[in-house]
Amino acid sequence: MPVKLPIYMDNHATTQVDPRVLEAMLPFFTEKFGNAASRNHEFGWKAEEAVEMARGQVARLIHASPREIIFTSGATESVNLALKGVVEAHRSAGNHIVTQATEHKAVLDVSKRLEKFGCEVTYLPVDRDGLVDPETVRRAITPKTILVSIMHANNEIGVIEPIEQIGRIAKNKKILFHVDGAQSVGKIPVDVERLGIDLLSISAHKIYGPKGVGALYVRRKAPRVELAPIIDGGGHERGLRSGTLNVPGIVGLGKACDICQKEMAEEGERLRRLRDTLKDLITERLDDTFVNGSMTCRLPNNLNLSFAGVEGDALLMGINDVAVSSGSACTSATLEPSHVLRALGVSEDLAHSSIRFGLGRFNTEEEVRYVADRVTETVKRLRDLSPLFETAKRRDAR
Ligand SMILES: *Cc1c(COP(=O)(O)O)cnc(C)c1O
Repeated sequence: MPVKLPIYMDNHATTQVDPRVLEAMLPFFTEKFGNAASRNHEFGWKAEEAVEMARGQVARLIHASPREIIFTSGATESVNLALKGVVEAHRSAGNHIVTQATEHKAVLDVSKRLEKFGCEVTYLPVDRDGLVDPETVRRAITPKTILVSIMHANNEIGVIEPIEQIGRIAKNKKILFHVDGAQSVGKIPVDVERLGIDLLSISAHKIYGPKGVGALYVRRKAPRVELAPIIDGGGHERGLRSGTLNVPGIVGLGKACDICQKEMAEEGERLRRLRDTLKDLITERLDDTFVNGSMTCRLPNNLNLSFAGVEGDALLMGINDVAVSSGSACTSATLEPSHVLRALGVSEDLAHSSIRFGLGRFNTEEEVRYVADRVTETVKRLRDLSPLFETAKRRDAR
């Protein structure tokens, strides 16, 4: 059977809503439309009941208690609340934050803004595999440090940072630890107790839930995290995030977490096999193709490859029936190469020649084979057209 085109393989950018998630959400747009804060009638009670069920589903997935879950509009807002909220509430204790160079823009841009307001931020380097050394975290901590913020899994290269070791260091030094879990929660096991996480940012649309909803886990004991809100007005969500709750979205996030909790192990194995097949089919047929980031500490659904002598954007255009991302232009109209790949020490040329494949729940083996064929033939064609690549090859051969 021919594959259906176009093929979506950009699941780090967003995911398709799972039909089971949509089905759970639909009644909350129609007959169950109540405001979860309405205490006087059945409509409100039904909405509140649904929100509390979702809170339990999110908590269960990360081994937290439901009271530790604050609903937000997504991981970007969760990161803002975590970082700005800690800085405001702990101003008297210090003004220093430790993070790393390969974070998502959500963390990097909030950090930059906090610097304008008098914070000092250390951006730790990563090694060639994209991993931060926990010892550099320990050494970066000063008496003024109030927060360590390290992502769990990287959205471009899928590498998984040593969160447990960093959590232990933060705990020993009594410093709060925020983790951007947008790419890890629901894909690999995340246990806030075992990993020593105090604040964890979560996004629904990365785990087959709806866009515009997410959560922040805020530890309530050992230690109880003090946080200042960034949105005031009504005191919803324990005063940390005011505003009428997005009940259908929250129901969708809860259902998405519930499905991940039940199916993560099996789905991870299936995606790992598909990802490895994709990698093997491409690298066996093409020379001068490099994997970016650690292959061992990595999400099962991520593959990031650089193809020497080929512009990533030209490759994207050549495979226009396959949705993937390139390592340039991914954040804006500027043709800056990916800050993540640059932090790994990947040359500017190879960073520009990179492609991110993000496999997901709805990809099939037939699709993987089709994508591998298209990529292979397109790279060969582009290299044949590229005088630069031939020159480089000849120079290397000498
Ligand atoms: C997608 C993503 C975010 C932002 O999440 P939104 O819910 O879209 O705001 C933050 N961090 C990482 C690592 C992501 O992949």
